[in-house]
Amino acid sequence: MKMFSKTSRQFGAQFSNQAKRLQSTLVIAEHDNKALSPITQHAIAAAKKLGGEISVLVAGTKCGPASEAVAKASGVTKVIVAENEAFKGFTAESLTPLIVAAQKKNNYTHIVAGASAFGKALLPRVAAKLDVSPVSDVIGIKSADTFVRSIYAGNAIQTLTAKDPVKVVAVRGTSFEADSMTGGSAATETMPADGCAQDMTVFVGQELSKSDRPELTSAKVVVSGGRGLKSGDNFKLLYDLADKMKAAVGASRAAVDAGYVANDLQVGQTGKIVAPDLYIAVGISGAIQHLAGMKDSKTIVAINKDPEAPIFQVADYGLVADLFKAVPELTGKL
Ligand SMILES: Cc1cc2nc3c(=O)[nH]c(=O)nc-3n(C[C@H](O)[C@H](O)[C@H](O)COP(=O)(O)OP(=O)(O)OC[C@H]3O[C@@H](n4cnc5c(N)ncnc54)[C@H](O)[C@@H]3O)c2cc1C
Repeated sequence: MKMFSKTSRQFGAQFSNQAKRLQSTLVIAEHDNKALSPITQHAIAAAKKLGGEISVLVAGTKCGPASEAVAKASGVTKVIVAENEAFKGFTAESLTPLIVAAQKKNNYTHIVAGASAFGKALLPRVAAKLDVSPVSDVIGIKSADTFVRSIYAGNAIQTLTAKDPVKVVAVRGTSFEADSMTGGSAATETMPADGCAQDMTVFVGQELSKSDRPELTSAKVVVSGGRGLKSGDNFKLLYDLADKMKAAVGASRAAVDAGYVANDLQVGQTGKIVAPDLYIAVGISGAIQHLAGMKDSKTIVAINKDPEAPIFQVADYGLVADLFKAVPELTGKL
């Protein structure tokens, strides 16, 4: 049995249609100019729970393809496109003046983005400029002003009512079913983006790690390894298993800190939050900071040689075994 409550899907967001009509939400799209990040689909789904009109801001450089994708989402009334060289790298510093200007013009009741690295950098700055409190890590929407959020690394669930005139809300992608992004034909309008270039922060460049495996936060199956793997070379056991299952590979912080794998694989409080259909934890003890990143997975399987390992308390299926024997056997049988 799971120790923790599951996601916001269980928090019924039932409030009157009349109240919903008064809402207007600005969703901040996360994208790479060409395509939307999956988190945007989750943010749009959360905005739909709030009800009322939904506008989506797509700010970037030559971001036509991303804005066209947004316009196809049913329930989105308007796509606001802003293009400027200043948005290279999508820095919070350059985007904030744009969002504040959009808010001043349109007086939204809610500004919503995904609780990703992008949203976590952006929304507190936007909220500060609007002199309101940001509402972070939202996992449920009870009404237009009442949100359910995860606090203390997932150890407690808080229900809070925000009194601010505009609610600046970061939603966890794992808690809102992705919008299908079909059936809509939203109008597109452009917004001037002068004055967004910043002297203090300049985007220099980025190096993105490439992998043929699915992206960790959107994968349906994740195979994660911990200190029990004992070396980076031994992670090959997990890569082989992951390839058979079309899974993404994740890791505990101990495995990252030991240099077995790169830190973009880290799952947990200070890593990525995942909620796949199937999470297989191999040689991971189940520290609370790791659980904070994966406990909402639909089915959790743990392979650990220590029957007392805390991971077994959240696992749906547990295998007390030596991973060096169990994992190749499992891969062989698939
Ligand atoms: C502020 C803070 C933030 C943190 N953030 C994160 C985070 O985001 N993510 C995260 O993961 N951790 C995080 N941590 C660290 C966390 O507390 C744990 O230290 C870490 O998760 C332990 O990783 P582990 O389970 O791989 O290692 P260990 O706790 O050392 O567990 C290794 C496990 O492998 C098992 N094992 C060993 N050999 C075998 C074998 N041959 N076969 C089968 N099983 C075997 C052992 O029985 C053991 O249970 C954070 C800590 C702090 C203080």
